[in-house]
Amino acid sequence: MTLANSSDCLFCKIINEDIPADIVYQNPKVTAFRDINPQAPTHILVIPNHHVDSVSQTEDSDTFSHVLSAAKTIAAQESLTDFRLVINNGAKAGQTVSHLHLHLLSGRPFSWPPG
Ligand code: 5GP
Ligand code: ZN
Repeated sequence: MTLANSSDCLFCKIINEDIPADIVYQNPKVTAFRDINPQAPTHILVIPNHHVDSVSQTEDSDTFSHVLSAAKTIAAQESLTDFRLVINNGAKAGQTVSHLHLHLLSGRPFSWPPG
């Protein structure tokens, strides 16, 4: 798939298959792959196939819709009943990769509030 469009973005490189990843789901709008440093037994990242930095930089609600719908589909695909969805927006909130991504975490109990 060659839809991603930022040559210096790690996640665009994954979409473009320039960097390998364990892709678990892909459709024309989104790609999902296993996190390289999982924080739970299941830790999947769901990203739009076009480059956008963050939630704050996303102009169209369709992008959110596609990402969230894909997360629901993947949770069912992985037979997950209890899971947490997280999006970090900005460095102080924990965002380290500037390509919008939703974390799908499952397989262990999660505490609240988050750290
Ligand atoms: P953030 O901290 O921006 O919310 O999440 C970025 C996530 O990307 C982290 O959980 C990190 O482990 C993951 N990550 C960073 N580099 C790679 C990579 O090259 N491959 C994969 N599969 N995940 C990565
Ligand atoms: Zn990107």
